[in-house]
Amino acid sequence: MGVPRRTKTPPRTGKSVEGMHACATCSSVLVQPTNWHEQGDGYWYVELRCPECEWTGRDSYSQSEVDRYDEELDRGGQELIEDLRSLTRANMEDEADRLALRAVERQHPPGRLLARINKRTIPPTGLPPC
Ligand SMILES: [Zn+2]
Repeated sequence: MGVPRRTKTPPRTGKSVEGMHACATCSSVLVQPTNWHEQGDGYWYVELRCPECEWTGRDSYSQSEVDRYDEELDRGGQELIEDLRSLTRANMEDEADRLALRAVERQHPPGRLLARINKRTIPPTGLPPC
């Protein structure tokens, strides 16, 4: 008995009720068109692929379904831009904190600071302060 070979699954028909951007098999909303052409009468033949589960499908989609997919792409693109801005802002805050810490460390190196603390707390006699 050998290991089963992986075979390429032929494209299936089947639409997600959520739209072209949603996978008909898993919950991914990253489905992408791999091939398309206009059929006429306001319909498009579209082949889709899910990058998360490798589902592929093909079907006819109305112009309004294609328009909704385009709107979803715009919404997803805007969401990515907002996430990138948040990440950039968080990285800049972290970098500012690191720079501030380095500036303080340059002004007060740990060895020098410890020497100053010891000088204040240990009297010349070597006895701890009362
Ligand atoms: Zn999927």
